[in-house]
Amino acid sequence: MRFPSRKIPKKEIVDGGTDSVACEAGAIVYALRRSRRRTVGITVHPGRSVVVRAPLRASLARIREFVASRAAWIEKAHLHFEQRPPKAAPAGFASGEMHRFLGQDYRLVVSRGRADSVEILLGCLCVTTKADPSADRVKGLLENWYRAQAGIVFLDRLVLCHRLLAGEGIPFPELRIRKMTSRWGSCSSAGRINLNLWLVKAPMACIDYVVVHELCHFKVRSHGPKFWRLVGRFIPDHAERRKRLNADAG
Ligand SMILES: [Zn+2]
Repeated sequence: MRFPSRKIPKKEIVDGGTDSVACEAGAIVYALRRSRRRTVGITVHPGRSVVVRAPLRASLARIREFVASRAAWIEKAHLHFEQRPPKAAPAGFASGEMHRFLGQDYRLVVSRGRADSVEILLGCLCVTTKADPSADRVKGLLENWYRAQAGIVFLDRLVLCHRLLAGEGIPFPELRIRKMTSRWGSCSSAGRINLNLWLVKAPMACIDYVVVHELCHFKVRSHGPKFWRLVGRFIPDHAERRKRLNADAG
């Protein structure tokens, strides 16, 4: 009597381990999942995780060829996640809550006083309110303070970074600071750079990376190898800074 050969049920997924394929921009490492499907599909998740779903019998060579053909798309998807500010837990606005500024954490100290003010004193972010210090009022005062700081810091870094790129012949751009939920920065063909207000919470090295990134877009619009070569000439460790930016900023 022969044992019946085991048939893979329709929904079962066979873990194919991890595999990688070498591409122009570096190796693409992916988790391979096989199942009774007809086509090869790729999904990209935050943290540079790539999952490739393939038919049970598809050859590894065919799968690799398909992954390699989608290299540009995969890189674009990674960038999409990396340039998105992480969804941080909303900060509270009572004394003791932690708030970040230029990569440093500061404990919030809320008190009543003669006038509204925000200042950093002895490692604390001190918010003084004339009226009842409700969460809304503290939030509003803090946001105004962050905006004022961002105005000073961003312009300062833009001047320095623009000087760093002096040989590129980029006209000095107009700077705008906006609250953005999905990007750290953007630029317009009208010669303007928009920076996310909350970028002021990030370390200075990360702010510089975003500023240089946007300045480089005035020369190269797309995120191809030419663009990254240009960014790399001024910020050789741009990949680390980008990672740090997305891991640190809250
Ligand atoms: Zn860009």
